[in-house]
Amino acid sequence: MTDTKLHDLIIIGGGPAGIAGGVYAARKQLSTVLLAQELSGQSIVSEGIENWIGIIKISGADLAKAMRAHLEAYKRDIVDVREGERVTSLVREGEHFRVTNTSGAAFTARAVLVASGASRRKLDIPGAAHFEHKGVTYCASCDGPLYAGADVAVIGGGNAGFETAAQLLAYAKSVTLVHRSSEFRADPVTVSQLLKHPNMRALKNTEPVEVRGDQFVSGLVVKNKETGETTELPVTGVFVEIGVLPNSDFAKDLLALDTTGHVKVDPRTQRASVEGVWAAGDCTDELYHQNNIAAGDAVKAIEDLYHWVATRRSR
Ligand SMILES: Cc1cc2nc3c(=O)[nH]c(=O)nc-3n(C[C@H](O)[C@H](O)[C@H](O)COP(=O)(O)OP(=O)(O)OC[C@H]3O[C@@H](n4cnc5c(N)ncnc54)[C@H](O)[C@@H]3O)c2cc1C
Repeated sequence: MTDTKLHDLIIIGGGPAGIAGGVYAARKQLSTVLLAQELSGQSIVSEGIENWIGIIKISGADLAKAMRAHLEAYKRDIVDVREGERVTSLVREGEHFRVTNTSGAAFTARAVLVASGASRRKLDIPGAAHFEHKGVTYCASCDGPLYAGADVAVIGGGNAGFETAAQLLAYAKSVTLVHRSSEFRADPVTVSQLLKHPNMRALKNTEPVEVRGDQFVSGLVVKNKETGETTELPVTGVFVEIGVLPNSDFAKDLLALDTTGHVKVDPRTQRASVEGVWAAGDCTDELYHQNNIAAGDAVKAIEDLYHWVATRRSR
């Protein structure tokens, strides 16, 4: 299906950045199509978000629901929300841009806001892909309760790793956190609090080398980087928290990306390397990635692109 309408704007993504972009586009009467695989953000799995400004504490699921309702309330017939497909390509077509998704549908617009966020970095060692959902997991709040009374490992020594360990300590018999460097990246307060827990231990300078098991995970082989010694931890759950990668594959032939694939932007305006394209949130090369920042980026982008689009409408 090809949508023959020339829109003012295509927004790619329906997380905090995409939804903020959608709300602002509606209020500025920019005819928009918003294409999102799912209307929600990465923090949907969080049990409690305590820094979304204006709300003291909210679960990730409730925040996603509230953002969806906000967009629904203002989109009228100005923002056409299409959920459920992945965008596969973004190309320039003369003065305009053409975006295609997995169902083969194509959309054209004067301007594009890329707000496609990021996805979890996968553990790339033998056994990790084979045992995904059979003991290897990327979501403590979704799967943690399944490991009540079990010995589990967490891979990653950043805030996400320690947050995951904290959640798991409520259910698991023991939690072993595996971190490849000599210093944890998580906030020192969180680290010292958690390491006091009797069921928690952390291995520094240690990397995972293999996930083992039969039908389900029965062990994680780790290697001490200083001594070269390998040990099998007898765990039945492996929770992976080793960062995220930007969802920017569809834009790689058009836009300048950094070495990890983040869309390069001018932080004053959110303009990407090609005139007519803006980017916001976790898909960008901005230093800090948070819900408030993603939404703010998109607001900045819409303010900037509004005038740009208005001058092109009359051409
Ligand atoms: C477990 C966890 C807890 C967190 N807790 C907090 C917290 O407490 N406070 C905080 O401020 N931040 C938190 N964060 C970070 C925060 O979630 C992100 O900074 C924020 O979600 C970024 O928003 P975004 O809109 O840029 O991207 P995302 O939230 O990643 O949204 C991306 C959107 O794009 C869509 N998409 C992706 N690829 C495509 C494609 N090809 N085609 C179409 N659609 C696509 C997705 O379906 C989604 O709608 C947390 C993150 C995680 C993982």
